[in-house]
Amino acid sequence: MSEGVQRYLSREGARIYRWPIDLFPDLSGYAHLVVVDDIRALVDVGSGFGDSNDQLEQGLNEIRQSYTEPAAWDDLTHILITHGHIDHFGGLQFVLERCHAAVGVHELDLRVLTNYEERLTIVARRLHEFLDESGLTVEERSRLMALYLLNKHLFSSVHVDFTYSSAGMELGRLKMTHVPGHCPGHVVIQVDDVLLSGDHILARISPHQAPERLSLYTGLGHYLESLELLRQLAPEVSLTLGGHYAPIEDLVGRIGAIEEVHRQRLSAVLDLLQTPRTIGEVAHGLFPSASGYHELLALEEAGSHVEYLAQRGYLGVANYRELERDGPVALRYVRLGGASPSLPRLIPRRREAS
Ligand SMILES: [Zn+2]
Ligand SMILES: [Zn+2]
Repeated sequence: MSEGVQRYLSREGARIYRWPIDLFPDLSGYAHLVVVDDIRALVDVGSGFGDSNDQLEQGLNEIRQSYTEPAAWDDLTHILITHGHIDHFGGLQFVLERCHAAVGVHELDLRVLTNYEERLTIVARRLHEFLDESGLTVEERSRLMALYLLNKHLFSSVHVDFTYSSAGMELGRLKMTHVPGHCPGHVVIQVDDVLLSGDHILARISPHQAPERLSLYTGLGHYLESLELLRQLAPEVSLTLGGHYAPIEDLVGRIGAIEEVHRQRLSAVLDLLQTPRTIGEVAHGLFPSASGYHELLALEEAGSHVEYLAQRGYLGVANYRELERDGPVALRYVRLGGASPSLPRLIPRRREAS
């Protein structure tokens, strides 16, 4: 990557540095350093995979050299993790070998960092069951489980110094807002009029959703509520910096566009389920060309939409009686009869945007 470090100034003069990092072979993103008063906080630390650690360090070097900002490892006061996905925290061991900054994370993602091995094993079991119920063959399931676990054994548990709740959801002029959905303990971090949005809001894509059955406090319902929460913050925000893709200037517009993606996807799922289908078949209908790791992402995305609709009474399970037997059962969901629900009701708008 040759983009280099960008510097942004908040309305009140906080300095936010942002630089690109290669996270995994198909995924790049950004690290951020926020300097405000006596706080020098690194927000997310890359994946720890491949060149990610080196690029994290190079960014700090460039900030020192090009902007004469104290940004050596020892100058850092805090490491703030936006959410417990490995492309955002995987570099923690590398970072903690080099500095003494206090590590913070939201309490609902705490155990991902401090009890990593236990959590990985439990979520893998939930995923295994989900893939069985989604109607995959044993071979397909084994292939996707192997993709899920690939690279995840590179990380092991680390010590965390504080949770955002224990700090009153703020750190000096940095304010954290809990926005569960994409991840249970996801926070966005606001400094003056600049918002670091992690993966809650992204410029080019709608952030990935997985069914809540895999991990409590994820799921499309929580995510849509968190979008609404962000809409309340939006009038104070003039620049949003996500963990991937370009900066966002029109936050309200971006929130509306992401909601529209989900509204259309929910509508497409209802159309597909005029006849009973498995989540695997729904995923194929929504994302026919997904392959490799994207096949797993497509299944989770489809699963989150089916779960949302089923929980709200739009869908039933046509063959639920088969669950009375032992062994794996592929569940077939079907749209329930009666008056067709009006689509705007699928995503309730609880408050008007101000
Ligand atoms: Zn994420
Ligand atoms: Zn990410």
